[in-house]
Amino acid sequence: MRYLTLGKTGMEVSEVGFGGIPIIRLSMEDAVAVLHRALDRGVTLFDTANLYMDSEDKFGRALAGERQRLVLATKSIKRDRDGVEADIHQSLTKMRTDYIDLFQFHQVSQEDHLEAITGPGGALEGVVRAQKAGKIRHVGVTSHSLEMAVRMVKMDIFSTIQFPFSFIEEGAAQELHPAARSADVAILAMKPFCGGLVDNAAVAFAYLRQYPDIIPLPGWDTVAGVDEVLDLYEQENVVTPEHLAAMARYREELGDKFCRRCEYCQPCPQGVMITPAMLYGIVAHRMGPAKAAAFAAKAMESVKLCEECGECASRCPYHLPIPETLKKHLAMYEEHLKK
Ligand code: SF4
Ligand code: SF4
Repeated sequence: MRYLTLGKTGMEVSEVGFGGIPIIRLSMEDAVAVLHRALDRGVTLFDTANLYMDSEDKFGRALAGERQRLVLATKSIKRDRDGVEADIHQSLTKMRTDYIDLFQFHQVSQEDHLEAITGPGGALEGVVRAQKAGKIRHVGVTSHSLEMAVRMVKMDIFSTIQFPFSFIEEGAAQELHPAARSADVAILAMKPFCGGLVDNAAVAFAYLRQYPDIIPLPGWDTVAGVDEVLDLYEQENVVTPEHLAAMARYREELGDKFCRRCEYCQPCPQGVMITPAMLYGIVAHRMGPAKAAAFAAKAMESVKLCEECGECASRCPYHLPIPETLKKHLAMYEEHLKK
């Protein structure tokens, strides 16, 4: 395991971090075992979010005794000062710590969200106040919009950018990564398995390790899964012809027909929460039916308002059949509710 400096934060972190979503579907005991395995094998960067159900509680239980040598990262989706301050308090309590090393504004993919965060009474005011009080060390941002991400790394507010990056979603390499590097903003790669669409760790990480300054944040739900990826980091990275062939097969199989979470389809005139509802299939795969139905309930209930006008589909740059997919996901959600 190599350790890198996390951009302008100056903090040292392991070259691969721990993403906090998949432990949601585990019992406390199993989640602690998975977190401990990553810790024992040298992972020092642990990333979760206020939104990830009991993930912060599980971090708190597993990591409290190791606090000094860890870099703890979390996020809040709140855009206003009071809301973010409440989330910071809650994150500190759940994670059993008195400071967060990296606090990120979660999923800033729309202009009006950035304006709300940075405007008067916005979340940035709350975060700066928490920084002055020693509750937060550094500030980052996460996004699924390339345009917004490129803009935000140039703003001199954020020390890290977290954005999807994998051999399936390579868009960030063109403009975002160079812009982040030149601003000394550290790059965290979310969804190294493309949100569960890629099931071959050797292939996924052979690709990612070609970018040694980018820190992937895989989520794990088994000790064996932790070992599978971290064993790769014990060997020199070689991208073989077999890896390249497998990447080509995945790209062909997936084509353009999966949701990139770019949010160009929004807003829906009926108030349907399109993006999370489009992702319901992946969320169910990752969390399991019962937890996915609880986690995505608000978004999936909003799908019932869809009038199939097709406005969203006309704005999707990937030409996804949005109304049809939403209908399919709603049926899946209703099945899951019965469980
Ligand atoms: S098709 Fe449905 S989800 Fe899409 S914009 Fe129209 S009402 Fe909204
Ligand atoms: S449905 Fe299309 S436009 Fe909407 S978030 Fe997904 S990829 Fe982007």
